[in-house]
Amino acid sequence: MSDYVQKIENALDALGERKSRPRQLLAEKLGTLAVEGHGFTVEELWTALRAENPSLGRATVFRTVKRLVDAKILDLIDFLDGTKLYRVCGESLIDTGHHHHLACLQCHAIREFTFCLPADQIERVSRKENFWVQSHSLTLYGLCEFCRPQQP
Ligand SMILES: [Zn+2]
Ligand SMILES: [Zn+2]
Ligand SMILES: [Zn+2]
Repeated sequence: MSDYVQKIENALDALGERKSRPRQLLAEKLGTLAVEGHGFTVEELWTALRAENPSLGRATVFRTVKRLVDAKILDLIDFLDGTKLYRVCGESLIDTGHHHHLACLQCHAIREFTFCLPADQIERVSRKENFWVQSHSLTLYGLCEFCRPQQP
């Protein structure tokens, strides 16, 4: 069992999700996706899991995915074209910890990077605007090395 699968199992325990065969399959599938680094939709995840477990409901998968986002196991990356992809790179899961994403507008590849907004700047905005900042998100959109036009 990979480290990721174990951490995902632990997170599901902490969420009070009952141990079951579908739960185990979900953890294993997410463990594989964590290694591959691909983004996925709930539909795609559900379709993959249903191959082994035809009675698995879409609502169950959707609910669990949502809870794993809250637990910072999964990240949700919102593309500007309406595509929403989940990725198994939450800050509770990966060694990098707090991070943000580079998102390719053409192939929807997602990568993480560790640059963050300077804490003192966030603090300054918070004071100036009299706004209690609790979290932030930052995604840089563009073209990955494979989707850029090749240099002549
Ligand atoms: Zn991430
Ligand atoms: Zn790309
Ligand atoms: Zn940050």
